[in-house]
Amino acid sequence: MPDAILTVAGGHGGAFAVKAGDLFALIDLEGQQAIDFVAFNAADLAETLSSVETRRATGSLYITTGAVLISSRGRPMIEMVEDTIGTHDYTVPACDPSRFAVDFDAAGHRNCLENMYEPLRVFGVTTPLALPEPFNFFQNSPVVEDGRTAVVDPPSRAGDRIVLRALMDLVCAVSSCPQDIIPGNGLRPTPVEVRYPGGAA
Ligand SMILES: [Zn+2]
Repeated sequence: MPDAILTVAGGHGGAFAVKAGDLFALIDLEGQQAIDFVAFNAADLAETLSSVETRRATGSLYITTGAVLISSRGRPMIEMVEDTIGTHDYTVPACDPSRFAVDFDAAGHRNCLENMYEPLRVFGVTTPLALPEPFNFFQNSPVVEDGRTAVVDPPSRAGDRIVLRALMDLVCAVSSCPQDIIPGNGLRPTPVEVRYPGGAA
């Protein structure tokens, strides 16, 4: 099992690399914490994990154990092999500087886009525009009456986790979503953990 641990402070981000076949876990350490996630083909950063391609492949707004997540070139990239919660989003974009500046009058607020971009720079990602739309694991985005969508606090509790299998060599990033103005993280961003095979980076 994984022997390297990346601990991400609440409201912050981190990046890591894994090899094809590796298992890695994303863990909500204290509960009610959305974890934004992006992935790139390590051999060609132009190929990214794609939420829209995955929605076409799954035909569903919901993913859990057994789901195969698809790349921007239509290729299997990641398989979900364990899921202790079953509530995830892959429709909502990462919070970013404009989200906080325009919608909340909170310019300079920490945000998922920069949380993931900054640690990805050492892996060769040269612009935040290269980041694909994220998978927001543990984020609770129900489809409600009349087809409208919402974002509410996650049902996850301390220690809930998903385990993913890389289907190609990957560079990945996570963000403990720093949204603390409206529900989504229990109004309190908390730490998350990534466990993955050591030496892969
Ligand atoms: Zn966020």
